[in-house]
Amino acid sequence: MCGIVGYLGKQQAAPILLEGLKRLEYRGYDSCGLAVLRKKNKIQAFKSVGRISELEKKIGNKKLIGFIGCGHTRWATHGAPTEKNAHPHSDCQGKIWLVHNGIIENYQELKNKLEKLGHKFKSQTDTEVLAHLIEEEQKKEKKLEEAVISALKKARGTFGLVVISGNEPNKMVAARQSSPLLIGVGSGEYLVASDASAIVTHTKKVVYLDDGEIGVINGDGLRILNLDNREVAKKIQEIDWNIEKVQKEGYAHFMLKEIFEQPSALENSLRGRVIEEEGLAKLGGIEGVENKLKKIDRLIIVACGTAYLAGQVGEYMLEEYAGIPTEVEYASEFRYRKPILNKKTALLCISQSGETADTLAALQEAKRKGAMTLGIVNVVGSSIARQTDAGIYNHIGPEIGVASTKAFTSQLCVLALLTLFLARQRQMSYVMGQRIAREIKQMPELTKQVLAESSKIRKLAKKYCAFEDFFFLGRKYNFPIAIEGALKLKEVSYIHAEGYGAGEMKHGPIALVGKDFVTFALAPQDSVYHKMISNIQEIKARQGPLIALTTKGNNEIKKMTRDIIYIPKTIEMLTPILSVIPLQLFAYYAALFRRCDIDKPKNLAKSVTVE
Ligand code: GLU
Repeated sequence: MCGIVGYLGKQQAAPILLEGLKRLEYRGYDSCGLAVLRKKNKIQAFKSVGRISELEKKIGNKKLIGFIGCGHTRWATHGAPTEKNAHPHSDCQGKIWLVHNGIIENYQELKNKLEKLGHKFKSQTDTEVLAHLIEEEQKKEKKLEEAVISALKKARGTFGLVVISGNEPNKMVAARQSSPLLIGVGSGEYLVASDASAIVTHTKKVVYLDDGEIGVINGDGLRILNLDNREVAKKIQEIDWNIEKVQKEGYAHFMLKEIFEQPSALENSLRGRVIEEEGLAKLGGIEGVENKLKKIDRLIIVACGTAYLAGQVGEYMLEEYAGIPTEVEYASEFRYRKPILNKKTALLCISQSGETADTLAALQEAKRKGAMTLGIVNVVGSSIARQTDAGIYNHIGPEIGVASTKAFTSQLCVLALLTLFLARQRQMSYVMGQRIAREIKQMPELTKQVLAESSKIRKLAKKYCAFEDFFFLGRKYNFPIAIEGALKLKEVSYIHAEGYGAGEMKHGPIALVGKDFVTFALAPQDSVYHKMISNIQEIKARQGPLIALTTKGNNEIKKMTRDIIYIPKTIEMLTPILSVIPLQLFAYYAALFRRCDIDKPKNLAKSVTVE
């Protein structure tokens, strides 16, 4: 999920690795490290928590000499961001060193087996199993690349990987599975990187590895193999981007990049967690409190901003399917009033950063009162992750755009998984569990289909971006999405927008409707669709301009407006994951046409660590 750099060539590796790592800093990371191969069986490694500058301080004026090496910026997924857990990781003998991006899904299983064979682990990471697995494979007298291939065949998950070995001091092996990796080809030198910004100052000639490909680099050049150890012919391509553009992977803003990253982000959030055949959710982070969770009879979700709105959707899911009375509260309110809690109440904190000050304070207050605490957090090892009794990580990599997008849809997916987990502990049938599991699994694909409509949403944003007032209306599962749509528009385009439950309109807000006040109506064909249609008619009757979002194949709505966005069909509880994406895009494009500073909206900060 974070950054990789590798070097093999005629220059000293360490300064090139450090420079490359610095160019990857924009991605956000929690720790870093590098290893340099000096000569046969002599590898020096340095690691540090925090910034690259800390790593440089650690290295100080110690001599790090060698022409081959690998470096890493870690964005922890398994194990806290400590020095021990920072990459590179090594085998028992300290001969094989590697850096890894991604997640090894079956690491626990592999670790158990390797421990039985006598391997001693030094970190809590999933990554370290790869080093030991390669060591084990090399016992069969395999070359480094052969051992890497055999190891990777046993590992399940995602990886961008660079491996060096003291046994073969003239070689570097790189591999990719669902985590980007490219190899830069210079004159007499090769650079490996997870993103081109780390290497563009050295070379613009690159080979992009595809899934299941292994790059073997040695003094003679570069060979690309597949997992069958057969050579694959690859083209060298030329990068014509500048650094800024490379970092955003060609997108104009991080917000847009993260919107488009949602299919893969959701895939990461769901990886290994949906057992479709059994209609179950497998959530390792809460398995330890499984029995306690069976006894819970009330849930309080605390969060702020967008995460709070994810919580509201979660409330509907949890009450409808798990039958657990659920309340959602702003953390900033919860902390100062007198909440009634008991041993059967669980407090669920939702926070992307895991550092949101109000949510953290609410968590501490609930703990003081003896409630069980859970978290849905993206940043591993963050304060909320550490202080809750159990939790579920989002695993979506860093979110840089201030306006949260991929974290929100991931929070919704995780809440759906949590609902499935708790519901199957209670009344939900096996068949119903299977149905929900099947639908959750579709989310990465269905979000892709929504994103394919982006040019249409762009046109709508162009048409409406000069308006100064918007209503976003929805009902039931899409009521919180209406508020989220309004929030996104406010945050990045500074347009006045309000989100309402559509049924509330006639109790006051409808007084504002007129030809200058646009309504964005969320009307997927769900259990409240006909109620939404009535509300839409009320807007039309008052000459309010209307944009409607509905399910693919619905022709009825065409009679009410020509400005329609379609989302694919799914079960009602999952529609928010699809319906919010057009609203994110609408806000983004409206802000773009209004020339706003999208990645740095005025007055806002990414991680709100103050009250
Ligand atoms: N899963 C690995 C870890 O937690 C790699 C994380 C990353 O991609 O930075 O160490």
